[in-house]
Amino acid sequence: MSVMIHKLIIPTPFPVGDLNAYVIEAEKLTLIDAGPKTEEAWQSFNEQLGKLGFQIEDIEQVIVTHHHPDHVGLLDYFSNDMPIIGHAHNNVWLEQDEEFFKRYREFFMELFQRYGIPYTPEVLLKSLTALMEYSCRRSLTQTVKEGDTIAGLEGWTVLETPGHAQGHICLYHEEEEVLMGGDLLLAHVSSNPLLEPPQDPCAERVKSLLQYNHSMTKISELAISTVYAGHGEEVEDVKGLVEHRLKRQAERAYGVLGMLKEKPMTVFEICRRLFPAVYETQLGLTISETIGQLDYLEEAGEIKVDETTPHWLYYAQ
Ligand SMILES: [Zn+2]
Repeated sequence: MSVMIHKLIIPTPFPVGDLNAYVIEAEKLTLIDAGPKTEEAWQSFNEQLGKLGFQIEDIEQVIVTHHHPDHVGLLDYFSNDMPIIGHAHNNVWLEQDEEFFKRYREFFMELFQRYGIPYTPEVLLKSLTALMEYSCRRSLTQTVKEGDTIAGLEGWTVLETPGHAQGHICLYHEEEEVLMGGDLLLAHVSSNPLLEPPQDPCAERVKSLLQYNHSMTKISELAISTVYAGHGEEVEDVKGLVEHRLKRQAERAYGVLGMLKEKPMTVFEICRRLFPAVYETQLGLTISETIGQLDYLEEAGEIKVDETTPHWLYYAQ
């Protein structure tokens, strides 16, 4: 293979485990994702880079697949003039934009009300704040979108693959049939379609699970022999794994349909039944998953929503 890709396995303090960063030897020495902002990650990063015969100063540009702290936090250790490239939707997160976080609160406040969730968004904000400790405060120096190429990285094309994060991208090398996949497709676990406030304050809530499924389908239609993933092993059977993920996804959604056939329920009622042990401690994640299943069923024409009740009621058709 003519593209030289090196994998750095960086420790994270998160349940997801290690993060894979990648060094691509191209015209410019390019880093794909970095790691969380911890001393341990920084040490490990430098050690592994050193074993490849490089130093941090040799890296000429960084591309971020998406804004999550386990992928970008370490950028705070990089010099201020390091070019950082990614989709524009990452900027509010990378910059920890105050206006955006205010909107984050309002967004979930409205959602909680509508979905019958008896908490205030402070629960979510607290865990978000804790998480952001591991993130960076940087700005993208260059934004990219679908179909773009990147200087110094010949042969690679940007693919927009939203769902897990709104600004998620992959890099595709058509000739070599290689994808730098970020968290789009992981070998060992399905990725989460996390809810984010829309970037445009006036826009409707984004249906992230539908987006995510669409992004997976999109890459399954490409010729790809290897996906270099953000966590875990490389994926080789892309079509097979996407098919498996979508099938499991459908099964989960139809499990929810079964519940709704018993009686109409609010999002919160469904969430508690789906995740009785963890809905409280992992509210953001479990609500995102629950809403994902409902978006899926609504799209499939299996359920309807009664929006006239104080808390929206979902019922089987
Ligand atoms: Zn992620």
